[in-house]
Amino acid sequence: MKATTKALHSIPVDPLTGAISVPIYQTSTFVQEAPGQHKGFDYARTNNPTRQTLEEIVAQLENGSTGIAFGSGLAAIDAVLKLLKSGDEIIAVDDIYGGAFRLFTHVYEKFGIKVKYVDTSNAEKLFDEITPQTRLIWIETPTNPTLKISDIKTIASIAHASNCLLCVDNTFASPALQQPLSLGADLVVHSATKYLGGHSDLIAGVVVTREPELGAKIKFLQNASGAILSPFDSWLVIRGIETLHLRVKQHCINALEIARFLESHPAVRTVYYPGLASHPNHAIAAVQSQGYGGVVSFTLCRDEAKLAAQLVSSTRLFKLAESLGGVKSLICHPPSMTHASIPVEKRRSSGVADSLIRLSVGLEDYQDLIDDLGEALGLLAQERFELKKTA
Ligand SMILES: *Cc1c(COP(=O)(O)O)cnc(C)c1O
Repeated sequence: MKATTKALHSIPVDPLTGAISVPIYQTSTFVQEAPGQHKGFDYARTNNPTRQTLEEIVAQLENGSTGIAFGSGLAAIDAVLKLLKSGDEIIAVDDIYGGAFRLFTHVYEKFGIKVKYVDTSNAEKLFDEITPQTRLIWIETPTNPTLKISDIKTIASIAHASNCLLCVDNTFASPALQQPLSLGADLVVHSATKYLGGHSDLIAGVVVTREPELGAKIKFLQNASGAILSPFDSWLVIRGIETLHLRVKQHCINALEIARFLESHPAVRTVYYPGLASHPNHAIAAVQSQGYGGVVSFTLCRDEAKLAAQLVSSTRLFKLAESLGGVKSLICHPPSMTHASIPVEKRRSSGVADSLIRLSVGLEDYQDLIDDLGEALGLLAQERFELKKTA
């Protein structure tokens, strides 16, 4: 069975009523027949039928054993970090999601957990960084915002040879394009806020484990710490997943067309998109994923933050906003938005140039999107010409 069909039919028909849409069990508790004798549900923090259905669907999509849903992507990441103890070390991808950086550095370091940031797109480098204390390797692939790719299979074998767990933040690719657990990773996390939900209308997170034993540990932490996903938001994510494969297919088509357009534009210096042959990690992306996703980044020939800020304010279809993975196209300027808290030198050295612009390519007709970007880039050129004339 093909992935799209499998995904749709992994969503069960309600066994009680035959409802084809998963019911929303908006309840805090469940009546018991005798103490401890119930239908598998006793209290809704511990377990809720709507959330459980979502957890099973995402576990299937990721080829894992156990799914565990949280109130945000960061709550999901937090649960994985709680597997560690004081004295343990993490090796994390150097251009990690800013919120994960904040959590690792400003929350967990004070509990005695050390984090080393490494360019994991060069897997060999990991050998030099692993110590006897390293317990967890944390990668994102593609990364944000320069879309670097790490070799999941190779890194999984390095991790396991050193008795470490490998966790992959699979938010950017989504299980429609990449299944890290099948490539050897132990855990996958998602900000379901992005492609899984897909409509920019909720905040949610999911952890999926390959082995049930590790799943039980995360499930314990979900109940013990309590950052669960609500029944209604669980239902919204399920509804989003119904069109995941269809949406992602079109996101990929649109993103590639836009990346090619930008690559040929005289005002653009570098385009970052793993689907372009010019991308340094294109070969590994082609092997480990079934597509290249909907995020495209680029820099301007004149690498100035002011020009980039002007560009992101002048598109009409691309709306200026943080986040990604929704049906409507978004544009942002990471140096002054998502990455503003990172010191300038550190930001530049991790490859985020002053004029870097990130697109979350949506599901509009790609020709309209190209026209929108073309006009905005044209305005920049025109303004520079006017400036020259008055100078
Ligand atoms: C958005 C995002 C997160 C955080 O998820 P929230 O749902 O906003 O808490 C984590 N990782 C990546 C790659 C993200 O894009």
